[in-house]
Amino acid sequence: MKFGTKAIHAGVEPDPSTGAIMTPIYQTSTYVQRSPGDHKGYEYSRTHNPTRTQLQNALAALENGKHGLCFSSGMAAVDAIMKLLKPGDEVVSTNDLYGGSYRIFTKIFQNYGIKFHFTNMQDVGNVEKLVNENTKMIWVETPTNPLLNIIDIKAYGELCKKRNLLLVADNTFATPYLQTPLDMGADMVMHSLTKYMGGHSDVVMGAIIVKDDDLHERLAFIQNSCGATPGPQDCFLVLRGLKTLHLRMERHCQNGRQVAEFLKNHPKVNKVYWPGFTEHPNHEVAQKQMRDFGGMVSFELKGDNVDDATRVLENLKLFALAESLGGVESLCGHPATMTHASIPREDRMKAGLSDTLIRLSVGVEDAEDLIADLEQAIG
Ligand SMILES: *Cc1c(COP(=O)(O)O)cnc(C)c1O
Repeated sequence: MKFGTKAIHAGVEPDPSTGAIMTPIYQTSTYVQRSPGDHKGYEYSRTHNPTRTQLQNALAALENGKHGLCFSSGMAAVDAIMKLLKPGDEVVSTNDLYGGSYRIFTKIFQNYGIKFHFTNMQDVGNVEKLVNENTKMIWVETPTNPLLNIIDIKAYGELCKKRNLLLVADNTFATPYLQTPLDMGADMVMHSLTKYMGGHSDVVMGAIIVKDDDLHERLAFIQNSCGATPGPQDCFLVLRGLKTLHLRMERHCQNGRQVAEFLKNHPKVNKVYWPGFTEHPNHEVAQKQMRDFGGMVSFELKGDNVDDATRVLENLKLFALAESLGGVESLCGHPATMTHASIPREDRMKAGLSDTLIRLSVGVEDAEDLIADLEQAIG
């Protein structure tokens, strides 16, 4: 089945009790049993809920996995994955990891005796040097935020197989429309469904998708034991969002391309970060592992005056100044003062996050209007 057909049909069955084509919102905490232990597969909604089950099945189908597990946020999904580990275990990840993941690793799980290494994962050699007998997991995120670096998932799939490590891919920025990490050797795909998957900026939720039955069982045990499960109304909203994932992503990618090209030719723009440009340092990997290049575009203004960036962000009208990404509406952000403000300026500069860097989540509006908005704002 092709992706668009899957987005609409896969994993979702008409409701068995009424035939409702749209999965109902099962707003219930518990389920009546005919006789003790004699039930219809549902006992308590932390453990199972029919609306959540349908969403989990749909996610598994889209990621070419076997099992899906939903959580009350992307961070709750990260939390569950980390609970597979024990004190003394080590994890290697990228040095431009999503800030929330970096925070939970270093400020929470480090206190429980898990050790984290961060390196530039565009070079597999950097990671190989950090792998030792305690290493249990490699954590990939690609494209990265906000510089849109691309990490070769397949190369890490091979390394993890050779060294018997678990490979996790945070697929939030790409979505399964652009890449399916389980097909490239990942053991687990993690999502913030809050972003493109939900797609309408109306829900916070996360997910893990796996192929392996044993891994699924361990994660489902953590999900039920720790209890960070989403409510059925939120599951319904994400299920609804998934039905147009392919249409939205197609337009996000088209608009992203047009915006990136417009910015590249603008005399006041110094640099544009977008993996679709042939001169992007990881363009070849992007072309190999992604179907298209996504709707995230970052750019840097000429000069180093932070006021110039502030002025552009204040002047933009269609691009709303806000955290988050992946919704139908375009958003803009300023990493230096927003998402990456906690990084000391010197370290930020070294990482390439200058004071005039602006990140765009290009929405699905008409590209002409988005470009006109950028034109008037940059001046
Ligand atoms: C937003 C995000 C998360 C965290 O997800 P929440 O739903 O906000 O908890 C994790 N990884 C990436 C790449 C994200 O963009």
